[in-house]
Amino acid sequence: MTKKVLVLPGDGIGPEIIAEAVKVLNLANSKYNLGLELVDGELGGAAIDKHGVPLADSTLALAREVDAVLLGAVGGPKWDTIDKSIRPERGLLKIRSELGLFANLRPAILYPQLADASSLKPEVVSGLDILIVRELTGGIYFGTPRDTIILDNGERKAFDTLPYSESEIRRIAKVGFDMARLRNQKLCSVDKANVLESSRLWREVVEEVAKDYPDVELSHMYVDNAAMQLVRAPKQFDVVVTDNLFGDILSDEASMLTGSIGMLPSASLDANNKGMYEPCHGSAPDIAGQGLANPLATILSVSMMLRYSFDQSQAAEAIEKAVSDVLDQGLRTGDIMSAGMRKVGTAEMGDAVVAALEKL
Ligand code: NAD
Repeated sequence: MTKKVLVLPGDGIGPEIIAEAVKVLNLANSKYNLGLELVDGELGGAAIDKHGVPLADSTLALAREVDAVLLGAVGGPKWDTIDKSIRPERGLLKIRSELGLFANLRPAILYPQLADASSLKPEVVSGLDILIVRELTGGIYFGTPRDTIILDNGERKAFDTLPYSESEIRRIAKVGFDMARLRNQKLCSVDKANVLESSRLWREVVEEVAKDYPDVELSHMYVDNAAMQLVRAPKQFDVVVTDNLFGDILSDEASMLTGSIGMLPSASLDANNKGMYEPCHGSAPDIAGQGLANPLATILSVSMMLRYSFDQSQAAEAIEKAVSDVLDQGLRTGDIMSAGMRKVGTAEMGDAVVAALEKL
């Protein structure tokens, strides 16, 4: 039976990196008889330009119908000053929440070939393999009330709300424990329970869920300490589970341990493993349209899609091997460039992965 993938290139470097990821996906599709059909749509600024909103109802309907979504990135200066209710990022938050994609998996793996590109000493990061599980549809990014008001004295005041229900915490904690079970049986739950009410509930519920996973070693860490430990001794972590805001920040920090945010894929899953797959980085307007962007995070997102949504681990592993082979050949985009390597652009990197995959 045909399975459908909705492709949303988005803005900035989005269309450039998606073009390369689609080349790789098309090849994997034919080589491994995956039976996937790709359909196109718009999200973010591209959708504002075409439909007047960052996520059109027709696109959302398509997203509900397909089996997986492949996304580039959204946002850019062109849409920075428009009404905040239709900013590009609103489209992204809406599609995540409407599809119930509550579990964001962000692996931070250091390819041995890129040890030099990390900002930390090779001995601190070599062999690094962390999985950050970020809660994606709750917390402060969605909480209400949120507003900017004018006080009686004329001063402006802004506020946000950080709510978490027990069921929201329980389901993301379970994902964290399940992932830890598949890896090295270590889960670190990151919160700010010394200050935040929502974090106190987070910790309590994670402890309750832990009773069903006696084989997984659970630890708790405050987010400020976790930020420090990630650069001090990152290999102490196996799986980290945390809320939306902390996960956003910590996963970007973890990305730099691996050399570049241009290397990091992500998966956002619902309760049935339907997912949206996207690189961890944004639309990089500073390099958009110049053929400079690293497409590997998006290509590796395709690999995560084949593994989690389509159960095609052979094809997923082949893509990961092709990426590793290309790094072995010494090809580097600017963000991961180091001495003695050959600098290539977005399309050349994508073509090299296609050629490496063809050979496998
Ligand atoms: P960014 O991730 O777009 O860029 C940060 C830095 O990393 C820039 O210097 C950029 O050139 C570089 N970079 C990012 N991806 C790269 C790649 N593939 N190859 C090489 N270099 C890369 O973050 P930002 O600058 O904070 O945000 C830019 C825009 O992206 C904003 O509009 C923001 O709202 C949006 N954004 C979107 C998403 C998303 O779509 N998921 C995530 C984060 C930011």
